[in-house]
Amino acid sequence: MRGRVAVVTGAGRGIGRAIAVRMACEGADVVVNYSGSEAAALETVKMCEEKGAKAIAVKADVSKTDECLALIDTAVNEFGKVDILVNNAGITKDKLMMAMKDEDFDSVINVNLKGTFNCMKFASKIMMKQRYGRIVNLSSVSGVRGNAGQANYSASKAGVIGLTKAAAKELASRNITVNAVAPGMIDTEMTAVLPDKVKAAMIESIPVKAAGKPEDIANAVSFFASEKASYVTGQIICVDGGMAV
Ligand code: NAP
Repeated sequence: MRGRVAVVTGAGRGIGRAIAVRMACEGADVVVNYSGSEAAALETVKMCEEKGAKAIAVKADVSKTDECLALIDTAVNEFGKVDILVNNAGITKDKLMMAMKDEDFDSVINVNLKGTFNCMKFASKIMMKQRYGRIVNLSSVSGVRGNAGQANYSASKAGVIGLTKAAAKELASRNITVNAVAPGMIDTEMTAVLPDKVKAAMIESIPVKAAGKPEDIANAVSFFASEKASYVTGQIICVDGGMAV
């Protein structure tokens, strides 16, 4: 990925940080997006720089159209192009549907699904001119098979799968691939908040009987973002220890 420029949303921590650092390890310069945690994003920038990459932190709430436009504009102004976009930013607001407020539904859809659309829309305009692009979206096993207590999240992540396939068809002729990774249960702050009993039951349901690490997801993202995947588009890979089988 030497000479490539990667934009990774929500890259201050968790899976996004592992992806950003992986891109840096493989030679790309990295735009580390965050919405609230500036210190964490700056730490990711430092980790990327330690791998020999150029990196900057850019604040943008992906649910806001104008902020996504500014994010992509900043990447182009700083690095001259955008070759790789990883739509990783995501939130959960888990509740049973009966107790789910409008705001719980709307905010999860707006960050996870609309945010992915926003960044793809602006980045793909640049990629079309370049006749090159790699877009990787973060879906979830919850979007593949649904999950009780996550109607909002499951809908958003199923939407990401549809969006990925539609965009893959729209952009293929311009040498832009669009794929998605659907993680299972990965050890990050997102899953740290789950009660121990719930975590234990989830792990029991995973064929490999263990949670995954952010680096497991970075491995799959790295494949889709690389030249090795140039003939792969519109695909969803579950990185989940067999959870969705
Ligand atoms: P995490 O530790 O909670 O981190 C989420 C990241 O998203 C943070 O860096 C956060 O940055 C950023 N973010 C949240 N709202 C944002 C917004 N509006 N605009 C820009 N950035 C925003 O989550 P994670 O576990 O690493 O998850 C990363 C992705 O993988 C998500 O899309 C998630 O749905 C997906 N996933 C995770 C799991 C899992 O088990 N962990 C499973 C399936 C799918 P700020 O703090 O700066 O807001």
